[in-house]
Amino acid sequence: MTASRPNIIDGKAFADRLAQRYAGEVAALKAKHGITPGLAVVLVGENPASQVYVRNKTNQTAVSGMRGIKHTLSASTTTQQLLELIAQLNADNEVDGILVQLPLPAHVDAPAILDAIAPEKDVDGFHYVNAGKLSVGRESLVPCTPLGCEMLIRDRVADLAGLNAVVLGRSNIVGKPMAQLLLRADCTVTMAHSKTRDLPAVCRSADILVAAVGRPQMVRGDWVKPGAVVIDVGINRVPAPEGKTRLVGDVNFDEAVRVAGAITPVPGGVGPMTVACLLGNTLTACRRRRGFA
Ligand code: NAP
Repeated sequence: MTASRPNIIDGKAFADRLAQRYAGEVAALKAKHGITPGLAVVLVGENPASQVYVRNKTNQTAVSGMRGIKHTLSASTTTQQLLELIAQLNADNEVDGILVQLPLPAHVDAPAILDAIAPEKDVDGFHYVNAGKLSVGRESLVPCTPLGCEMLIRDRVADLAGLNAVVLGRSNIVGKPMAQLLLRADCTVTMAHSKTRDLPAVCRSADILVAAVGRPQMVRGDWVKPGAVVIDVGINRVPAPEGKTRLVGDVNFDEAVRVAGAITPVPGGVGPMTVACLLGNTLTACRRRRGFA
């Protein structure tokens, strides 16, 4: 990867600057009001990818000066036990944000767990109250990944009004909130998915193309409109030489980078932004709940 090309978006550097800013805000909250924002992260089971994500999130929380409260539970934890923990965290005044790492084991009723998180502490923004508020334009907690994507897009495009945006993927955690954010920014938004006809042509209409499908390198260079901003949310592990593996996105980077006006690499693009936005959401939740908004 040619990291020096000006059209490559350095998500890591952007996220580091954001995290530094949030650390300063945490320090100010402490100094002025004696408050330390608290983020509770719940991990159930031993999914290796989830363990890495949780370690990353708790490390960053500590670096920012916030209080990280990690709950590691066995894979056999029941829905009822998890609901009891959520109720405890909802009632704990020192906890400003609650994050339950997904996926949960198959026997756990994941929707019931997400629904049980107090919406004002839902720093992942997955609760239907927050999803609904986002869609009707009310103040809410916005899912971290699309929030980070929006920041990267705005950093490259001063005025989004009237631009064609295509969001590839319609999941509740990425695609749908991403489309809502772009709509809120006055883009003309198309949501594409597995039943969309002539996907390459739909993608070629995009001034802003966000790919969140979970299909390694599916978006080819000739799907990209020259000059478009391409945000690659995908994280896919694929085989590499010598029995190793490597991470690739949903976009064929080597092809798309020759056409795009700006593009995020994988890794080093959207991923670090997700963690930085989690810190931002925890600060926001803390300020709102404690009356310092
Ligand atoms: P998801 O829930 O599996 O949703 C995938 C979406 O892509 C679905 O809407 C699906 O369409 C659509 N899709 C799948 N195959 C397609 C195809 N061949 N053509 C067109 N559309 C297709 O995935 P997700 O949770 O949104 O995650 C998407 C990717 O982003 C994954 O690689 C994930 O690891 C990554 N991710 C990264 C971050 C980060 O921090 N960077 C955060 C979250 C997710 P249907 O609805 O029609 O099935």
